[in-house]
Amino acid sequence: MTTGTGDRAVVAGASMAGLLAARVLAERCTRVTVVDRDALAEGPERPRRGVPQGGHLHALLGRGQQALEELLPGLTRELTGRGAPLGDQLGDTRMYFGGHRMARARSGLSLLCASRPLLEDAVRARVAATPGVDVVPRCALVGLEISADRRRVTGARVRRDGRDEEVITADLVVDATGRGSRIPTWLAALGLPAPAEERIRIGLGYATRVYRARPGALGGDLGIMCAPVPPHGRGGALAVLEGDRWMVTLIGVLGDHPPTDPAGFLDFARSLPHPDVRDALTSAEPLGDPAPFRFPAGVRRRYERVRELPEGLLVLGDAFCSFNPVYGQGMTVAALEALALRDQLRRRRPPQPLAFHRHVARVVDAPWELAVGGDLAFPGVEGRRTAKTRVLGAYVDRLHAAAETDAALATAFLRVAALVDPPTALVGPGTVLRVLRHGRHGRPSPGEGGAGPTTTTVPPAGPPSREDAPAPGRRG
Ligand SMILES: Cc1cc2nc3c(=O)[nH]c(=O)nc-3n(C[C@H](O)[C@H](O)[C@H](O)COP(=O)(O)OP(=O)(O)OC[C@H]3O[C@@H](n4cnc5c(N)ncnc54)[C@H](O)[C@@H]3O)c2cc1C
Repeated sequence: MTTGTGDRAVVAGASMAGLLAARVLAERCTRVTVVDRDALAEGPERPRRGVPQGGHLHALLGRGQQALEELLPGLTRELTGRGAPLGDQLGDTRMYFGGHRMARARSGLSLLCASRPLLEDAVRARVAATPGVDVVPRCALVGLEISADRRRVTGARVRRDGRDEEVITADLVVDATGRGSRIPTWLAALGLPAPAEERIRIGLGYATRVYRARPGALGGDLGIMCAPVPPHGRGGALAVLEGDRWMVTLIGVLGDHPPTDPAGFLDFARSLPHPDVRDALTSAEPLGDPAPFRFPAGVRRRYERVRELPEGLLVLGDAFCSFNPVYGQGMTVAALEALALRDQLRRRRPPQPLAFHRHVARVVDAPWELAVGGDLAFPGVEGRRTAKTRVLGAYVDRLHAAAETDAALATAFLRVAALVDPPTALVGPGTVLRVLRHGRHGRPSPGEGGAGPTTTTVPPAGPPSREDAPAPGRRG
């Protein structure tokens, strides 16, 4: 029997979204059971089977670092204690946006260079140690238990260690099983409406190789970020990680994927529009072979439009929206969704699915539009392009060019890309004037003075408005 009070929760998926959700559920529920089909015991060195993307570069955006710290105070200090370098996102990274190298400045946004397995290991240990939370490995969610009138979830059907199915009684079931979530299929099988799905087919390919760090080779920098820029479509990134390692990820879109044989990998690095990654790799010692990852499309599921979801069923993380990873948004959005869950739990227990999913949709809106806008800048990506998209795309191109010499614009752009400020922050009158003063190619117009590269004032964020939000937030 469930009590209907939200006292018992089951979270499916012990990756970032599920763990962070469990953390906030434990503040209100007496018992939170987190199940994952993986063994979960592989340690922080290796990516695990259920999270194969863990072997590829995972940037933690500025807002994500803040949100993680809010959810798990002291996490940053713990990770730096375990060897993860800490710096400033703009001051310690060579960033190319839209093909332009951003002016250097202290942005005030922390850059935490932890590998994905280390980050997840630290988060999992803290969540598992939270009173009331049980993390159960090798336990797969295989279905939902719902009331006879199909209006309420009463539990989760699971299979432990491949044994027979059993039911964990719960009045809240949170699906955080990632992009491959089966909830839409199960809803349809129950005769309930499944969410509409939007897909942006980017045809992305990653290849990642880990190297022993070459001390001094980066001049003290902690990273290089050079994302694909239309029409070139190739990009690369390097991050200094714990254990004196470099992780190098090469990126190609629309089927132009980086090879995973060592010679092909290096050739691809040499073909990038900027030499930084290629130069860093000269005589660097590899610690393994390049590994591939394919990401066909960004997927957004519109749960916020499904009114008939059974009470007690919540969906978040990549199961709700899976972003093109080039923009580095997924973990940050997962942390912001956990904060949204905390807010909803404070209002009503158990949270009402429609209200919760509408809240999550508001969290997802800006990053999704930034990612979609960036993807649609590639002519080969299918999707609706409006006059507004084109005007804003041209504006952001000019902003990128201006940010080569204007540190305030570089910081303003980074704060939006890092999800700290809303996209509207880039179209306030002060910022627009500043961009226009630089002229078409980013140089200050004669007599205008422009902004010096040492200026670090960040324009204030305007009120969020979807109408005038710039779409393209390409990291490149
Ligand atoms: C190549 C790549 C690079 C990325 N780079 C970045 C980056 O730079 N920065 C960033 O913030 N994000 C990045 N992401 C996104 C990030 O990995 C995810 O957004 C993040 O892990 C949150 O996802 P999640 O917890 O919802 O799902 P996932 O991380 O996919 O985890 C799903 C979990 O559910 C478990 N599971 C699946 N099915 C079941 C089941 N039936 N029962 C029980 N358990 C189940 C899995 O074992 C797994 O533990 C990247 C993604 C990819 C693909």
